[in-house]
Amino acid sequence: MSTSSQGSSTNRNANRNSLKPSSNVKSKPIQRRTTTASAVKDHTTVPGRVRVAVRLRPRNAEELVADADFADCVELQPELKRLKLRKNNWDGETYEFDEVLTEFASQKRVYEVVARPVVESVLDGYNGTIMAYGQTGTGKTYTLGRLGEEDTAARGIMVRAMEDIFADVSLESDSVSVSYLQLYMETIQDLLDPSNDNIAIVEDPKTNDVSLPGATLVEIRDQQSFVELLRLGEAHRFAANTKLNTESSRSHAILMVHVKRSVKGRDASHSSENGNHPHMVKSLKPPIVRKAKLVVVDLAGSERIDKSGSEGHMLEEAKSINLSLSALGKCINSLAENSAHVPFRDSKLTRLLRDSFGGTARTSLIITIGPSPRHRGETASTIMFGQRAMKVENMIKLKEEFDYKSLSRRLDIELDKLIMEHERQQKAFEDEIERLATEAQHRISEAERNYVESLEKERSKYQKDYMESIKKLEEKFVMNQRKNEDPHMKSNTEIPSITAEEMADLKKMLQKETLLRKAAEGETNNLKIQVAELKQSEASAKIEISKLYKILEEESHQKEKLEGEIAILQSQLLQLGLEADETRRHLDRGGFSKEVGGRDSLTSQIKHQQQVSGNGEKPSIAKLFEQVGLQKILSLLESEDADVRIHAVKVVANLAAEETNQGKIVEAGGLTSLLMLLKTTQDETIHRVAAGAIANLAMNETNQELIMAQGGISLLSMTAANAEDPQTLRMVAGAIANLCGNDKLQTELRGEGGIKALLGMVRCRHPDVHAQVARGIANFAKCESRASSQGMKSGRSFLIEDGALPWIVQNANNEASSIRRHIELALCHLAQHEANARDMISGGALWELVRISRDCSREDIKTLAHRTLASSPSFQAEMRRLRLSH
Ligand code: ADP
Ligand code: MG
Repeated sequence: MSTSSQGSSTNRNANRNSLKPSSNVKSKPIQRRTTTASAVKDHTTVPGRVRVAVRLRPRNAEELVADADFADCVELQPELKRLKLRKNNWDGETYEFDEVLTEFASQKRVYEVVARPVVESVLDGYNGTIMAYGQTGTGKTYTLGRLGEEDTAARGIMVRAMEDIFADVSLESDSVSVSYLQLYMETIQDLLDPSNDNIAIVEDPKTNDVSLPGATLVEIRDQQSFVELLRLGEAHRFAANTKLNTESSRSHAILMVHVKRSVKGRDASHSSENGNHPHMVKSLKPPIVRKAKLVVVDLAGSERIDKSGSEGHMLEEAKSINLSLSALGKCINSLAENSAHVPFRDSKLTRLLRDSFGGTARTSLIITIGPSPRHRGETASTIMFGQRAMKVENMIKLKEEFDYKSLSRRLDIELDKLIMEHERQQKAFEDEIERLATEAQHRISEAERNYVESLEKERSKYQKDYMESIKKLEEKFVMNQRKNEDPHMKSNTEIPSITAEEMADLKKMLQKETLLRKAAEGETNNLKIQVAELKQSEASAKIEISKLYKILEEESHQKEKLEGEIAILQSQLLQLGLEADETRRHLDRGGFSKEVGGRDSLTSQIKHQQQVSGNGEKPSIAKLFEQVGLQKILSLLESEDADVRIHAVKVVANLAAEETNQGKIVEAGGLTSLLMLLKTTQDETIHRVAAGAIANLAMNETNQELIMAQGGISLLSMTAANAEDPQTLRMVAGAIANLCGNDKLQTELRGEGGIKALLGMVRCRHPDVHAQVARGIANFAKCESRASSQGMKSGRSFLIEDGALPWIVQNANNEASSIRRHIELALCHLAQHEANARDMISGGALWELVRISRDCSREDIKTLAHRTLASSPSFQAEMRRLRLSH
């Protein structure tokens, strides 16, 4: 029978029964992560062909009358998924599709077979496209865009898709946002904001991801607001089309639904631990988000537009209107034929749909046809478009990534909590110490008071007793005297004498006095003991206080340690982010790892870091810098722990990539520490990262002189001689290349073996290393040339003396432009001085210069080479000899 039906039968047979993909997303989850360490880096990809369904519109009122005597131009066999396009009553061609939908197919059924698998796939984290193609009036808008407000059974694919999305997402953790656009005459207009009528497409050259940063993006939280948004878009579309004097059939309508979901409960399989992180790392697992995009495209009518302008369009307009559609056809043809080149860049539509055809999205195409035999030609071409689209293979890829932003937020909160807890503890300690001190003071003064009081009491008691005894004695004495003076006394001359009785009394009194004194002495001793005891307890209180001080000291020590740990963790997080990003880029590029441009790459890593941290927030590295302090980070460079050293040097390198930090780093002695690291450690990673940091610092003239003054060139040369890792060599070469660009350092640099070290590194075949070597040579040649023309240097170039010429000549036509351009410049600089001419001629450099002056694609270099050759008598003579012209 027909030949065309065989064309696509190979792919089709496997999935004859359904438009759904062979690996049904819901029932048989696509194989996800396998290992723990590289979990998220392992983006799952599965093959997925573009699915194509055909839908026939019922005859409309006009056709019922006008075509009453004619049969439909197509005959459908839905159970066989076949369509027969009649040539005449007895002959026709048969085509197979993934799904054949008759004029009786309900909107619900159309949604289920065409759109639902794509929507489910988007909910699982894959990009998806649903697109309608066909002649104007065949039902594209009916199929995709009907709101079905008057009759819910009539709801189209857009409305039903959003219903399914809302049924599946959780509004707490997920988000759904929508853009709605119109593409007309290669201009993208925002249907949600008509004033926004020229939106640019932005492509990420590395990932090929396409985005429209200028388009309005509305986050929606319920079905009702989505329907309102669609209605608003339709109204704007009508207005825009009226203004442009066109109809919607001439423009493409594009709905983009961004679904962002956080992946819960799977964290266990996403650990990035490799066993040697500190204990806090468990809380460092970044959450995972899936960001998938559903694109629904209502294409412009596929009929050929009359170029005569009969519909009021100028020829240019007509071309422009069809440009996107014909570019789409060309891309699909190239993809169907597996051509090496697919002309995606030819139109805005194909740039926008890059991921949908031959990309990573799951794509479903519905082609719409009418029954009328009068449009047989258009119907046939629509069918052929569908047949070709069925041959397009996509590689469907999970859009999953770490959510570093929320991890960083979480870490910030944890840090704040730790700081608060520490402050609280410190306050409690200080309060306790104060309390103890006052208490002890209290006790001491009370004891002292008691002592003074009781001493006073004793003293006055003894004084009183003493006075009393004296008084008694005096009384007795007076009595005795009186007795003596008495006339009854025996004799006047008799000496007054004390009777035995009185004597005994006196003795007794004396004894009593003695006893009392002894008691007082005992009491005094007692008090003395008490005071001594009190003194002792005061001393022990002091010991306790000093113990508490010690504990406090330990606490603050602990706090410092924790802060250090947090710094390391944050630097690890940073590193993880950079590495994850790096790996993702590599994977996206096809797995081969290759970085470009030493300085540029470091700077771009930081730039990326800034992007990751979001618009409003400060980059977290700068935050780290503020929180932890440069001094502390630098002091970690000398840590005992190799891991800590590595992380610290990475942080310093990241800081050094930003110009604003460079001064501070050098001031704080960072340059010296980095140079020391080259000398004192054997670790390749440290060498690589430290050299990278030095390369960044060496961009500034003052730093270049400092590096030289601190013996940096011999350290770099030593590293260059011992390193094997191409990335280390690239960094070292980058650093030396920067030094080569300083006019003042030429002689010293060369004298200390800088050029030899640079040339030595070409033993590593990596093109990035060669590019840096070439840059260094070009820098050096430029400075030398300047010095020569100012009369400050004479004789042959140091480059030639140090044997650089053979490598220069050999690489002058290197296919990598980053190498070639530098060498071309170096050759021009060298050629400007007659002293170099003889070596250059004998070394073959003249041929290269002639080639550059003829063929170089950079006009400025070409002119420079030409001028240089023309002004050199030696070159002119040699060229005349060889009968060369240029
Ligand atoms: P297109 O967007 O391809 O130009 P429309 O969707 O505007 O076509 O459809 C043209 C007309 O045909 C509309 O009046 C629409 O209601 C009607 N129509 C299209 N498809 C169907 C269908 N399957 N059943 C009933 N009417 C339909
Ligand atoms: Mg339409």
